[in-house]
Amino acid sequence: MSIASPTSAEPAPAELPLLSHWINGRVVAEPGAPTQPVYNPATGELIAHVARGGAAEVDAAVRAAQAAFPAWRDTPLIARSAIFFAYRELVWRHREELAALITRDHGKTYPDALAEVLRGLETIEFACGLPVHLAGVNTPNVSTAVDVLTLRQPLGVTAGITPFNFPAMVPMWIYPIALMAGNTFIWKPSSHTPGATQRQAELWREAGLPDGVFNVVYGGREAVGALVEHPGVAAIQFVGSTPVGRAVYETGIAHGKRVAAYTSAKNAMVVLPDADMELTADAAVAAGYGSAGERCMAQTLVLAVGDAADRLVPLLLERIGRLRIGPGMEEGVDMGPLYSAEHRANVIRWIERGVAEGATLLVDGRPFVHPAHPAGFYLGVTLFDHVTPQMAIYQEEIFGPVLGIVRVATYQEAVALINTHQYANGTAIFTTDGGAARRFQLEVDVPMIGVNVPIPVPAGYLSFGGAKGSAFADLQMRGEDGIRFFTKQKEVTVRWPEPGRRAALSLVFPGN
Ligand code: NAD
Repeated sequence: MSIASPTSAEPAPAELPLLSHWINGRVVAEPGAPTQPVYNPATGELIAHVARGGAAEVDAAVRAAQAAFPAWRDTPLIARSAIFFAYRELVWRHREELAALITRDHGKTYPDALAEVLRGLETIEFACGLPVHLAGVNTPNVSTAVDVLTLRQPLGVTAGITPFNFPAMVPMWIYPIALMAGNTFIWKPSSHTPGATQRQAELWREAGLPDGVFNVVYGGREAVGALVEHPGVAAIQFVGSTPVGRAVYETGIAHGKRVAAYTSAKNAMVVLPDADMELTADAAVAAGYGSAGERCMAQTLVLAVGDAADRLVPLLLERIGRLRIGPGMEEGVDMGPLYSAEHRANVIRWIERGVAEGATLLVDGRPFVHPAHPAGFYLGVTLFDHVTPQMAIYQEEIFGPVLGIVRVATYQEAVALINTHQYANGTAIFTTDGGAARRFQLEVDVPMIGVNVPIPVPAGYLSFGGAKGSAFADLQMRGEDGIRFFTKQKEVTVRWPEPGRRAALSLVFPGN
């Protein structure tokens, strides 16, 4: 792994809470061990510290997960399922608390955080049906009196490495599938948003999950490097940025692991001239600025065909003028702050770059300062018009509240732009023409597509994942692909001796 680490270790002052690793069913905190700060982005205040683990903590978690594996693998399916039902109930009961922790650490609005928890819950509910999902296949009579059983078995110790922007939903798309299949699990979450992480570990214990089956190691580059290279880890799912995801994928594969990495995005929505422009404007503002643009399924480019932009821009400006920016817990707030001061500075640099590249700055979010919280990591929303494919603000992910309009002459031009972009995560078309929408589904080279739906995140029991620079993976996550990823298949060829049917000795390769 050769990517620079974005955070630095520092000692924790005693008066602030310290969130530490969860290994073998309990919090593990070494006095004096390195930590990193946790901020409330709405106020800019330092609110806690989080442990910064490395090889030793990863090794302890792997050993706990290895020790717990045989008993968890052999736990009857219905008993495993009962723990999932209990966990589902606990997450539901604590949904508001989890959402408030997400808002505190991440900055997104409370309703948005609650929606995240509920979308995560969908995959936990899917996993409750594990006795059905883990069924194998029996193929009788593949040869005379010979049957083949196809078994799905767990891999052993598995891991998930997750980003800051969905501290509950994204891990809830990974660990239920890994655990239901009988694997044990190590979660390396983002250290920026640890509050909801800690609660998920505690709720698993309350649900009756045996110690060592679910473990958490906090940290950055050192912890990830140790996980990716540890011989005791069989498989890793990663969600995060493309440079880190690519390195995790390549290093993990080189160390003999099964790895899937779902990474950065630059999603574009096509607007045809016949679209319902009011609906389209609502969708573009929601998908561009929701969660301050810190979603991998945000639509950050509008590919406006023909005269669509001329009619759309006034509607966008009117909606942008009504947006309320403030602390995520405040009622009526549409958009919270960015998650960190560094990221805010990055996004400002992107806006400067867009101006320098010649895009038309219709709305400038840079001057926004929250009157009551001037130290919060707020940024207003930014709207660029006349963005072109040659610009870096078209090519690269910004991950902030910056929406760009690209004016194209034809539908074909819009599809060609999408199909030649380095990223392919989600896309959408806005039109009232069913034929055009149908062609779009068939012609666009992006795995997740919306038709008049701006954020086409499939339901939690279906698969999710990108392509090209947005995923380094053979399979999607969750759903049938998720089960395939977290299980190994065995084919058992069976013949039972039957009186009178014994074949003569033969050295010929067995056939039918
Ligand atoms: P990130 O790549 O910085 O971090 C992801 C994980 O990797 C975290 O656990 C982090 O601690 C760890 N990490 C960070 N730097 C590292 C390094 N140098 N070496 C090893 N590990 C490191 O991503 P982020 O900023 O937390 O999240 C935002 C990114 O995630 C965006 O690019 C977004 O598009 C992407 N994302 C993708 C999806 C998807 O499904 N494709 C979903 C959510 C977010």
